[in-house]
Amino acid sequence: MDILDEIRIHFPDKNLAAIGFNFNTFNQPESRFSTFRELMLRAGERFRTEVKLFESSSLNLLRIYTILGLSGSIGMLIFGDKIRLHVVTNGEIRSDLDNFLKVFRHRQIDEKSKYVCPHCRKRGCIDVLLTYSSIIRRYQDLSGQEPILYENLQLLGESGEPAARKIIEENSILAARTFALLKKELPLDRMMISNLTKTGYDIFTDEYCKLTGEKDAPLNLCSMSLSDVILATAEMVRKEMLGL
Ligand SMILES: [Zn+2]
Repeated sequence: MDILDEIRIHFPDKNLAAIGFNFNTFNQPESRFSTFRELMLRAGERFRTEVKLFESSSLNLLRIYTILGLSGSIGMLIFGDKIRLHVVTNGEIRSDLDNFLKVFRHRQIDEKSKYVCPHCRKRGCIDVLLTYSSIIRRYQDLSGQEPILYENLQLLGESGEPAARKIIEENSILAARTFALLKKELPLDRMMISNLTKTGYDIFTDEYCKLTGEKDAPLNLCSMSLSDVILATAEMVRKEMLGL
């Protein structure tokens, strides 16, 4: 339970433990989820604080919207085993966006890409470039390596392995284009991205702000590891609440 001691050092205020998190289930062993749930429950007991575990990303988004006291709308696009979109508007989870997403996920974000989508026949649409399987295929094509887990690709990229690093850099630019498009088209007041590494988020932020002319980048709901999830989310929320 070293991790709990770490949380206590970073966040001595008992009222602020884990608030929201994103759990990456793509190609992950089921035991990872049970471990996470156990950790959350024990954290609750130890800090005598309320712990809620939402298995649904849309509920996570609603929880964060409420905790941060947001108004208007916030959208979270998830690049996972498939492209998913969650939007909360005026405190309600939107359920009317399935048709929008069906079209949106085939928006072209790289017209010079060598990847052509088998569904929309376009070169470089969101779906053919940014689902986990698309990303892993791009990494394989570039590196000549065997398929790896998306999470391991991120770790490799952070450690400086050239092919993984290049894919992360490309992804960040492509994700920024996607987010800029989405924010304008729906439109949305705020955005949240998930699962970006520090390097990825920095590149994403630069590009997103350049494209939109905004000063504030979307929030990053990080899920690199259990400790990162808890620490990054709580830190993010703390900064947001204190206006830092
Ligand atoms: Zn497509």
